[in-house]
Amino acid sequence: MRPEPYEANVAVIGGGLAGIIATVRLIQTGARVVLIDNPLPESAGRLGGFARFSGAKFSFPPAGMGLVSVAGSIDRLNQVIEKVICELGLTGRQHSESIDQSHDLGGGFTFRRYQSIVLSLQEMEAVLNRLSTEIGRRAVVVKGKATRLDYIPGRWSIHVRADSHDFLVNADTVFYAAGRLSEGLLLQAGALPTEGKGMDIGVRLEFDNKASIERLAALGPDAKIIHGRVRTFCLNSPGIVHRYPFKNITIAGGIVADASSERANIGLLLRVSNKEQRLKEILKAAEKCYPQLLSESSRTSRESDVFTPPSVLERLYGSDDVAQLAAFLKEISNLGLIDSSQPYRVHMPLLDWHWHTFSLSGSHKTSLPSVYALGDSSGHARGLLQAAVSGWLAAEELNANHC
Ligand SMILES: Cc1cc2nc3c(=O)[nH]c(=O)nc-3n(C[C@H](O)[C@H](O)[C@H](O)COP(=O)(O)OP(=O)(O)OC[C@H]3O[C@@H](n4cnc5c(N)ncnc54)[C@H](O)[C@@H]3O)c2cc1C
Repeated sequence: MRPEPYEANVAVIGGGLAGIIATVRLIQTGARVVLIDNPLPESAGRLGGFARFSGAKFSFPPAGMGLVSVAGSIDRLNQVIEKVICELGLTGRQHSESIDQSHDLGGGFTFRRYQSIVLSLQEMEAVLNRLSTEIGRRAVVVKGKATRLDYIPGRWSIHVRADSHDFLVNADTVFYAAGRLSEGLLLQAGALPTEGKGMDIGVRLEFDNKASIERLAALGPDAKIIHGRVRTFCLNSPGIVHRYPFKNITIAGGIVADASSERANIGLLLRVSNKEQRLKEILKAAEKCYPQLLSESSRTSRESDVFTPPSVLERLYGSDDVAQLAAFLKEISNLGLIDSSQPYRVHMPLLDWHWHTFSLSGSHKTSLPSVYALGDSSGHARGLLQAAVSGWLAAEELNANHC
């Protein structure tokens, strides 16, 4: 027999930082919330989404300016950030001096860095565990995958598949915070996707000895070197590179906050256009040469020359894009920021891939009635602090609509 449906004012789909903070804010305002999360395979059934596997770096404006239009003004955005930081238990952790900088390094290279808070993995776990306990006390948390949304005028019915049984969650409003792995649930329900953010492709270089990139890392945990469409990504990166599953392959992520590790890595990313088509082509090529890709990703280079791109990389990205990544790396080596004569591996592919986003302009609402999209699913936010702030703002937007 099918269990009785859960009844809620708001059903939150996705228990990453966006869903977590939205739930926290909604229960503070008295809403009856059911949080549905299909935990990521590596997370042992716990809430947190990608936050548990990320660089654990919370970046402040001017990172995440896409949220200004939803907040209404930069002042309001800053006020909400302060509240969210307090909710995360991180007040006082932000660097006190302003280090927002952008300057020209010559030769078309720009250097930028933002204020940020970098947590250790243990600190990140502690934050997520505390918030999960709080939510568990005041909202219903169900573990399972939302598989379908039906609209019965005035109310949504969400089909959820769990290990042992299927069940329904009925709600007046749906908060969709399923992030980058959401696989089309809203599309099936008839939502119109929005353009969202762009797609980046690249490599993650992992040096055996962290001294090889210490001059680059010393620029700051959230520093970026930018040249045209290419940039560095994650400099606070002592740690070991992990791969995680994506479609039919695995891609190179990075656990970057382990200061005790001897290894260190940096990401290099190139912004590409025509993102949907490019992603399809890259995945097709990666599937075809997957064994070679894995073996070249785990081979240590001992060449004294600066970055000879592994042959498989051209098959993935094409020669023009690989040439741009290689030229960029050569230049930051010439600037003395990395020592590429030291042993390193080239992990591939590194993708900040394209996924569907759904929020309308200046709002978290989607084209579907009473369905809001937040965090990575919104198109306004990408990043940890941004996901959390988006969750808070969506809850406030819903409350404002009800008043
Ligand atoms: C390797 C890596 C490193 C990163 N490092 C950083 C960093 O250092 N700093 C930074 O600012 N950002 C970083 N990011 C980006 C950041 O992690 C994300 O932008 C942010 O965590 C998004 O949060 P979210 O809540 O929107 O989505 P997610 O964290 O993706 O959470 C979505 C949740 O919804 C669940 N879900 C999906 N579909 C369904 C469904 N149908 N039913 C139920 N549940 C579902 C998922 O399993 C997941 O638990 C990194 C990302 C990656 C991949």
